[in-house]
Amino acid sequence: MFWQKDIETISRRALEELQLIRLKQTVRQAYKNIPFYKESFSKLHIAPKDITSLKDIQKLPFTTREDLREHYPFGMLAVPKEQVIRLHTSSGTTGKPKAIFFSKKDVDRAAELIARCLIMTGIKKDDVLQNMMTYGLFTGALVMHYGAEKVGVLVIPAGPGNTKRQIALMQDFRTTTLHVTPSYALYLASVIHNEGLDPKKDLFLRRAYMGSEPYSEETRIKIETSLGIDVYNSYGLSEMNGPGVAFECMEKNGMHLWEDNFIMELIDPDTGEKVPAGEKGELVLTTLYREAMPILRYRTRDIVTIIPGKCRCGRTHRRISRIIGRSDDMIIIRGVNIFPQQIERVLMGIKAVAQNYQIVLEAYDQMTVRVEISRNLFDGKVDHLVNLQNEITEKLRSEILVKPKVELLEPGALPVSEGKATRVIDKRTL
Ligand SMILES: [Zn+2]
Repeated sequence: MFWQKDIETISRRALEELQLIRLKQTVRQAYKNIPFYKESFSKLHIAPKDITSLKDIQKLPFTTREDLREHYPFGMLAVPKEQVIRLHTSSGTTGKPKAIFFSKKDVDRAAELIARCLIMTGIKKDDVLQNMMTYGLFTGALVMHYGAEKVGVLVIPAGPGNTKRQIALMQDFRTTTLHVTPSYALYLASVIHNEGLDPKKDLFLRRAYMGSEPYSEETRIKIETSLGIDVYNSYGLSEMNGPGVAFECMEKNGMHLWEDNFIMELIDPDTGEKVPAGEKGELVLTTLYREAMPILRYRTRDIVTIIPGKCRCGRTHRRISRIIGRSDDMIIIRGVNIFPQQIERVLMGIKAVAQNYQIVLEAYDQMTVRVEISRNLFDGKVDHLVNLQNEITEKLRSEILVKPKVELLEPGALPVSEGKATRVIDKRTL
């Protein structure tokens, strides 16, 4: 099933021709209307006419999140204000937010991309999508909402949290599809089971779209098994419209990135150079089809690989892997680079581990991994706990090359996340 079959299965050659036409337009539009780009071009001694092939993209300046913050609120806007119909912001942990503008066409184009994504996972008009992302300034919920409406699906704008009400909505309106963060999905699954419900019999769920925070294959499997559904990876970021940048098809082997709307590059985050084919690198995206806010070579900070070969679904847009890490999330412990996702992968592969965990970093680079484990392990037999603790410590050590302290906790001991989870607490700088 396709939403826009012609463009989704376009030949690589025709796709590249289209990309070049749109890249030239985007560059002209950015140069003409955004003083920041005009200045960066002149510093690099380039002009829009220097872009004559797709390779020339490497001549263009990068755009960083700091650039977007610095030009907050209107500095990156490429159209007159009266053409803007929607504002989103993306908040960082520090400093000013980033403002993201949509024209009417931009809202519609973002919805078209979501429609492609949803149809790609087999959704139909009689499906019911419960959207558990945060509505508001964050792009996650609204962009999905508009795309699902375009397909004609019934959307329940539930937002996150209030888990018992979520479950009641799922039962009453026969929700088939969830849009949810992985950390909340894990929590939701545990509440459903604790309520004595059997998801396969008492609910109507068939699939979930999960994104907005990186998660491991082990977490996907855990959620799929406990809810009896298919989980599809979803990738997006507010700076690039929000969700719908890349999405998994039913093969569930990498996310097709919509290359008629974005040019992707993978670079070495330290040097800015293109990484060799097959290697992991930081994803850099250029918008090709955006009116209000074209962005050139945006440094996403997300580390991915490109999946080689053709996809069996017939789509020709290349696939990216799940996010391997975020260059910002990287923890450096005793000189070793560690991504929290590596720790998650180990934990979620151990059966006795429940859904919640936390990584605490303290003075002198001490790392403690606090893990909730199944209640039945607290059976009074100390050696059960000691064995499990040793197993977790050893598996973590062989994955991250640093020996952490492992603390076992009862289920519910850690704070519950109803949106994005805070997995790492770094007390080293406090
Ligand atoms: Zn595919």
